[in-house]
Amino acid sequence: MWAGMSGFSFSLTATDGAARCGVIATPRGTIATPAFMPVGTAATVKAMMPESVAETGADILLANTYHLMLRPGAERIARLGGLHRFMNWQRPILTDSGGFQVMSLAGLRKLSEEGVAFKSHIDGARHMLTPERSMEIQALLGSDIVMAFDECPALPSDRARIARSMRLSMRWAARSKAAFGDRPGHALFGIQQGGLERDLREESAEALRAIGFDGYAIGGLAVGEGQALMLECLDYAPRMLPKDKPRYLMGVGKPGDIVGAVKRGIDMMDCVLPTRSGRTGQAWTRRGQINIKNARHADDPRPLDENCTCPACRNYSRAYLHHVFRAREIISAMLLSWHNLQYYQDLMAGMRAAIALGEFAAFEKSFHAQRAEGDIEPL
Ligand SMILES: [Zn+2]
Repeated sequence: MWAGMSGFSFSLTATDGAARCGVIATPRGTIATPAFMPVGTAATVKAMMPESVAETGADILLANTYHLMLRPGAERIARLGGLHRFMNWQRPILTDSGGFQVMSLAGLRKLSEEGVAFKSHIDGARHMLTPERSMEIQALLGSDIVMAFDECPALPSDRARIARSMRLSMRWAARSKAAFGDRPGHALFGIQQGGLERDLREESAEALRAIGFDGYAIGGLAVGEGQALMLECLDYAPRMLPKDKPRYLMGVGKPGDIVGAVKRGIDMMDCVLPTRSGRTGQAWTRRGQINIKNARHADDPRPLDENCTCPACRNYSRAYLHHVFRAREIISAMLLSWHNLQYYQDLMAGMRAAIALGEFAAFEKSFHAQRAEGDIEPL
C-alpha cells in the first residue's frame, strides 16, 4: 500500500552493517530512528514536564495500558479528548498492550485462551484483558502506535512453557489485528516471542509476517536473561523480521544494551531506567554511572557532565545536586531525570549521525573507551 494512504510510514535513510537509521512518519510528527522512548507510565514521564521531555529531543513516548485502564480509566481519558490532550503531549505516543504488566503487576490473575482475568493492584477490582479489549483501550487512549496483546514468561523458563506462551501470543496477535481493524494514521505492531530459542523465534516471526503488521517488536527479552544472552538472541532475531518495517526492542535498557541493540538492527527502544535512576540519585554520563549521593560530590563545583546541554549540567554543580538529593528535595528527581533523558537522547542522536556517516564501529569503540575511563577525578 502507498505509505501516504495510511498516514504511517517507515523509511530507511542509511545502514551501516546491521545498524539502521530511518524515519517513521505519523500524522502527529516524525520519529527519527534509532529512537529511545521515555516511559510515561501513568500519563506522565515522572518528575518531568512534557515540554521538558520534548526539549531533550524525544520524538515519541510510551504509556502503559495496564496502569491507565485501572486509573483513571480509558473511557474517562477518551471523554476528556484522548491521551495526547489529557497529558499535554502532542507528539506520537506508543502504548503497550497491558499483557506484560498484567502478568507482572496484577494480583490474583488467571490466564486462559480468552485473555487474562485479574484483580487490580490498586483497589482489588476485577478486570478482564483480552486482545479485543486491549485494542479497544488503546483506541480510546488515541495511541499512535498500538501493540498487539501478548504474554511472556520471565527467563529462565522451560522450553515447553516458552513455546506454549509464544503460540498463545501468536493467536492473540491474529485476534489483535482483526480487532484493530482499519485505522488510518495509527499503526499496529506485532510482537515476536520465543525466549532464547532460535527456532521458536523463527516460528513466531513467520506467524507475525503471515498476519502482517506496520512494525514488529521483539518481546520477551530483558526479563532476567542478562546482557550477553540478550545480545546473542539479537544476533539473529531482528533479521527474521521484515527489513522495511520498524523493529522495536521492548523494555531495553542500559546504555550499553542500547548500543548493542542498535548495532544489531533495532530501531526503537523504551526503558524506565533514565527516570527511575534519576529518582534514586543515579546519573548516566558519557563516562559511565555516577551516584550523586556519594560524599565525593559534596564540595564539587563542576557539572555532572561538562559536555551535556541539559539544565542540570548547565546551571547546577555536583555539590548542589548532591545536596538536594540528600535533603530529599523534589528538584533532585527533576534535574537528574532531565539529565538522564538528555543523555539517552544524545546517545541516540550520536548513533544516528554515526550510522549516516558509516562510522558506527568507531562510535561504538569510543562509547566503550569513554566509559572505561570512568568518572572525572575527584577534586
Ligand atoms: Zn546533563
